[in-house]
Amino acid sequence: MPDLIQISALSDNYIYLLHDEASGATLVVDPAEAEPVLLSLRQRGWTLTHILLTHHHNDHIGGVAELKAATGAKVVGAAKDHGRLPKLDQAVMDGDSVTVGGMTAQVLETPGHTVGHICYWFADQAILFCGDTLFSLGCGRLFEGTAQQMWNSLSRLAALPAAAKVCCAHEYTAANGRFAATIEPENQALRDRLSQVASLREQDLPTVPSTIGLELASNPFLRAADAQTFADIRRRKDTF
Ligand code: ZN
Ligand code: FE
Repeated sequence: MPDLIQISALSDNYIYLLHDEASGATLVVDPAEAEPVLLSLRQRGWTLTHILLTHHHNDHIGGVAELKAATGAKVVGAAKDHGRLPKLDQAVMDGDSVTVGGMTAQVLETPGHTVGHICYWFADQAILFCGDTLFSLGCGRLFEGTAQQMWNSLSRLAALPAAAKVCCAHEYTAANGRFAATIEPENQALRDRLSQVASLREQDLPTVPSTIGLELASNPFLRAADAQTFADIRRRKDTF
């Protein structure tokens, strides 16, 4: 199994590194900043080979230029968003594969938070990099897409294996949980998750990666019965 490293950045962002020992390849997902990534690479003696981007927001691409200049790593992002992403070396669409050493990701287009948002699914490693589409106990705000689009996007992620690691880009779980509890106060899986989250945060520990199985049991946005219900919940969350 490859090494998965989680780096805290800005106020509540997570940047991920995934390293393939056999090939020596290392990828970073959504580098908000370059400095903590370069430090982490140095500490481990790893060389950055790929920079994977989920969407164009600055808290996901802020470190790309500096990392590219320092390492020459190949930048991968959505073809649909090439006009507002840093210069891409590989522009990808739904169903495309991204090869990083011995590891391969499938690209899933997941419009909703932005129209060009994509996720990377490493099936062999059971790792999902989902940016700002799916959060633990929540989902991204609908800045550009419609509720129907986000619902379709989340439904695709929900169909991944229960053991899939959900590597989202923000530590929003505690705040999401306070809202989730208003939607499903009787959900025992949610209650259990809320006490786990409270204890993790007291110790200043991350609550993610989560898993698809855990989110299916506790995340009201994934548990909504249909797109209309999802839209209602999303609207309520926006004014919570
Ligand atoms: Zn975003
Ligand atoms: Fe973000």
